[in-house]
Amino acid sequence: MAETQKHWTLEEILEVYHTPLLELVFQAATVHRQHHNPREVQISTLVSVKTGGCPEDCGYCPQAARYHTGVENEPMMSVDSVRSAALQAQAIGASRLCMGAAWRSVKDDADFDHVIDLVKTVRELDMEVCCTLGMLNEHQAQRLANAGLYAYNHNLDTSEEYYDDIISTRSYDDRLKTLSNVRKANLTVCSGGIIGMGESVEDRCKMLLTLSQLNPIPESIPINALVAVEGTPMENIEPIPMWDIIRMVATTRIIMPQTTVRLSAGRTEMSQEGQALCFMAGAGSIFAGEKLLTTPNPDAYEDMDMFNALGLLPKRPFADGFVPEIVEEEIVAGEETKWSRPGHRIEANVQYAELGKEKRKAEKV
Ligand code: SF4
Repeated sequence: MAETQKHWTLEEILEVYHTPLLELVFQAATVHRQHHNPREVQISTLVSVKTGGCPEDCGYCPQAARYHTGVENEPMMSVDSVRSAALQAQAIGASRLCMGAAWRSVKDDADFDHVIDLVKTVRELDMEVCCTLGMLNEHQAQRLANAGLYAYNHNLDTSEEYYDDIISTRSYDDRLKTLSNVRKANLTVCSGGIIGMGESVEDRCKMLLTLSQLNPIPESIPINALVAVEGTPMENIEPIPMWDIIRMVATTRIIMPQTTVRLSAGRTEMSQEGQALCFMAGAGSIFAGEKLLTTPNPDAYEDMDMFNALGLLPKRPFADGFVPEIVEEEIVAGEETKWSRPGHRIEANVQYAELGKEKRKAEKV
């Protein structure tokens, strides 16, 4: 579980980030070896249990209903489909199944009851279960905990300042409130961000500063590289250099030594040699399986070959000692967290929502 954290300043984090690259990788590798088994990499599989139709306007997301990306609003996956996805994930060495739903926030309705059944189903297979379902109240977090959930993912995405250029339908503070609700239910926290969305290095380091100031710090920090999807406001952004991803992984490792750094979205664009440097610099987890929610991911067998070539081993489930159990206990709905609807205007998001409307109209003709 989490450690007492050194208090980093933004200047210190920037200094780490700008360390000459090979020296940075060496320092990060040294820290990694002090706190983790460097041969072990945790494998997670991310399954979209409710795809598309999301009312939010996240500028990078193909699941936002307002953009025209070819991602359709689909019904929820059945218990049987999720069980077989979990068994397939286990077969490729995954110890954790993450289930995502394209929701703004969790509602106390039949769909959430179904998610609770999905969590229990996967937990009974002796896998770690993570959910990413949007904003979450405290009693909802507790219901998930009682169903045997291991972790809840809710990314900060970027710095508080740059966030206002990416999303207009919820605030940074909403994100932090969800993380706090997750903590109150004694769940582990998975929260990181996306790089390559046009943010500055300072924004990246400010996000790391915010994560490092959470008490306790998240047990898991995904570092995603933007996957620029056609039809989203970010469709024309060029991929960031691999060096930036390595720097970000290494800086995260040094700033927060005990957390698991997850090399997440964008791996299809990364060479195996580039990924090897990330593992060297402290990445302790990847997502395996053909898709990451709706975007492509490397073939699982290619990942196995890479593990063999690098001498890496899949980490077994619950290796960090936290073993959540299923508890049959009625949860009384508590106080609702008040979520904001900031609704400021982000030109690119508005423009792509309009384009989306026009394309849908044209398709109906
Ligand atoms: S990132 Fe999540 S909240 Fe944002 S639009 Fe996509 S599914 Fe919705």
